[in-house]
Amino acid sequence: MTSSLLGMDREEVAALIREAGEPAYRTKQVMDAVYRQRVESVSEISTLPFELRERLEKSVTVGAARIENKFVSSDGTVRYLMGFEDGQSVETVWMPEGDGGEAGDGSEAGEEAELAGSTSGAKAPSKEQDPIAALKRCTTQMLSGENEVNQNSATQTSDTQTSDTQTRATQRRSPRRSTICISSQVGCAVDCQFCLTALLGVKRNLTAGEIVAQVCAVLKDQEVSPPEDRINLVFMGMGEPFLNYENFMKAAQLLVECVGIAERRMTVSTAGIVPRIREFGGEKIRPKLAISLNASNDDLRTRLMPLNKKWNLEMLLAAARDFPLRAREWITFEYVLLGGVNDRPENAREAAELLRGLKCKVNLIALNPGPGIEFNTPGEARVEEFQNILRGAGIPAFVRRPRGRDIYAACGQLKRTVAVATPPAARRQEISPTAEG
Ligand code: SF4
Repeated sequence: MTSSLLGMDREEVAALIREAGEPAYRTKQVMDAVYRQRVESVSEISTLPFELRERLEKSVTVGAARIENKFVSSDGTVRYLMGFEDGQSVETVWMPEGDGGEAGDGSEAGEEAELAGSTSGAKAPSKEQDPIAALKRCTTQMLSGENEVNQNSATQTSDTQTSDTQTRATQRRSPRRSTICISSQVGCAVDCQFCLTALLGVKRNLTAGEIVAQVCAVLKDQEVSPPEDRINLVFMGMGEPFLNYENFMKAAQLLVECVGIAERRMTVSTAGIVPRIREFGGEKIRPKLAISLNASNDDLRTRLMPLNKKWNLEMLLAAARDFPLRAREWITFEYVLLGGVNDRPENAREAAELLRGLKCKVNLIALNPGPGIEFNTPGEARVEEFQNILRGAGIPAFVRRPRGRDIYAACGQLKRTVAVATPPAARRQEISPTAEG
């Protein structure tokens, strides 16, 4: 059975090179080719002699992810369907900065300045964080349609190709921050009631190599490279990273040490696997921590997130309070607002009470709708009121702009949807998940 170079650390590649009877400097050549040049096959490693490539090919592959499908949103977000060797697939999302700040993408970008000034209490939302403006912008984008690009299809329109090329050209002229949202499992077992991924159940964990491979494939496709381009990573795609802890941690380490993305540019989101939160706090290299809160009391949280039965709010918040934060680091709490369920003013006041004294910020996400999800997206005024109550209590709160909602790329929408209809009203009938590999 062949193994994959993606996912191997320096020691493992060094062992492979030793076994092949080759000098030690070949290790660096292989590492550079796989993680920096992002080759997709051993035969492409041009720094190695042809004969060595042929020998290595008998025992290893690169293990690159295959981009099976690609959907481009009107807001520049790209949702990728990534395939692996066993036929399983996950989704990975690219969010270019594009429109003046990414206070909505889960990374620190666009929020640092606000954090510095907002801890003292209530502050009026800036234009970019104004939920009304954000939701209006989203509606306009949804009504303007979207582009679907199938890599393997001869039907791709020249219009799409032109705009894709122009977008890339613009990005190349002025490299700026972008964010990649990565999956850690095929599906998810956590069963959050507002999440489309939960409907898939869990098929399997991704290997460390498959997690890294998603990043490499997107960097290559978008023609960007850290550190010249400022790439943020959020482990917020399909799956619960802390239920695939070892592979997630190894991937994070490889992304820092081999791909060159700083750990401060990575954020991992957990639904609240308390023992892993505690273990994570002790890691030498680790991304920043985000916790999905989504409710202001145990009854509500258990209804929305059944795992709250095992690790309730008291246990979760105790782990958050004990979490060893680095200088200038905050814990992010994510709160998906469900109309009439968890978005009332009393929920906001209760949540503020729960978080009192924690060095944290809250990202508010108005529900991204999807078929099979029975909750409603709250009104604009409700979102703003919730935010203002938190801010009034001295808790920095941000409204995350929906990114790529029109192509099912937004938070909680990742379900390997392959058909995307243009009019929003028509979508519910038309989407269907891909067949299992
Ligand atoms: S929100 Fe995250 S943890 Fe919850 S079901 Fe969806 S993917 Fe899993």
